[in-house]
Amino acid sequence: MSNYLDYQAAKPVDKRVLDEMLPYFSEKYANPSSLHADGDVATRALDESREKISFFLNAPEGSSIVFTSSATESNNLAIIGSALRNKRKGTHIIISEIEHISIHNIAKYLEREGFTISKLPVDQYGIVKVEKLEKLIRDDTILISISTASNEVGSLQPVEEISRIAQKHGVLYHADAVASEATVPLDLTNTPIDMLTLSSNDIYGPRGVAALYMKKGVRVNPLIIGGGQEMGMRSGSENIPGIVGFAKAAEIAKSEIKQEGPRLSGLRDKLIKGVLETIPKSHLNGHPEKRLPHNAHFRFDYIEGESLILGLKDQNIACATGSACSSKTLEPSHTLISMGLLHEEAHGSLVVTLGRFTQDSHIYELLESLPKVVKRLRLLSPLTPPDLLKQIKEEGEN
Ligand code: PMP
Repeated sequence: MSNYLDYQAAKPVDKRVLDEMLPYFSEKYANPSSLHADGDVATRALDESREKISFFLNAPEGSSIVFTSSATESNNLAIIGSALRNKRKGTHIIISEIEHISIHNIAKYLEREGFTISKLPVDQYGIVKVEKLEKLIRDDTILISISTASNEVGSLQPVEEISRIAQKHGVLYHADAVASEATVPLDLTNTPIDMLTLSSNDIYGPRGVAALYMKKGVRVNPLIIGGGQEMGMRSGSENIPGIVGFAKAAEIAKSEIKQEGPRLSGLRDKLIKGVLETIPKSHLNGHPEKRLPHNAHFRFDYIEGESLILGLKDQNIACATGSACSSKTLEPSHTLISMGLLHEEAHGSLVVTLGRFTQDSHIYELLESLPKVVKRLRLLSPLTPPDLLKQIKEEGEN
């Protein structure tokens, strides 16, 4: 493997998680819907897993956890499910301008189906302008969907305030917590979020499993209809090995998150300081403090993000230039544009995301290679101004 610094795109499954999962493939393989003793083993595993996820969230009494196949599916269930359930009450939904592409595309779909979507703008740091939220709420508003943090620039959103405003107006609040769940503790007993999307892989569990948390009394229409599994909210035989792994991942994350957050923010800050001090015309995107402990998002004038990633790839370093989910579109990031960046600025980004297995040495290696790659690209770029070009030539590439 490379020096892997792209944890927001995918994380390895923790060995402790894998060990917990393995018996459920070939020994404890029964279906929880079966009434025999082997089925009871699977039912117990399912129930215990739900409890572990609830514990991870400090979920209040009476709330429920619905297991799904992906965070994308959880977002669909939360947003389309509540839109369908509440359409007699109203057809207006609020999201932010910088939601994950899955939420943007769900919103576009609902617009075509006759719903109205309003988008809360963000400031230059990618933090939603919460003071404008109340003005967007109307009599027919049924849902607000704003993530806990930007998966891209790492800015933390004012979730507490959003949830209080939603509660005051009797509007449901859904938060996608995928970006923050590994490094920022969640406490749903003390934060009145109605629905929350969690992904297993983002806390070092397997892919192909995720969850939607629903507060007591919240109702959505199911989108997958069939045998009535998951309290009728998501039919289809449960992925027991995946669910057991997800729950183990949540158990580990719960016990380690208080140390892991500060450890990663220490590494992140070393990286940010090192980059900004050694590379001229480099910038940090997102808020300098109110950001995910594991996220550093830079932009470098005069060069393209893609060439940067390829240059780092040659040095055996794996980073990203934006959200992996949007990398197939050649459009500049909607998040950076909403933050007020110009198209050419948005194209020069580098996203470095750290994780459980990131050590000092990984950061030092990047700090060693990145200035050289940037210099090399600037020497080739027609956009580099003559004075900077002269400076680079005088210093030499290395
Ligand atoms: N929400 C956020 C914030 C994400 O970063 C992602 C991608 N990891 C998703 C939703 C979608 O996750 P998945 O592709 O696993 O469905």
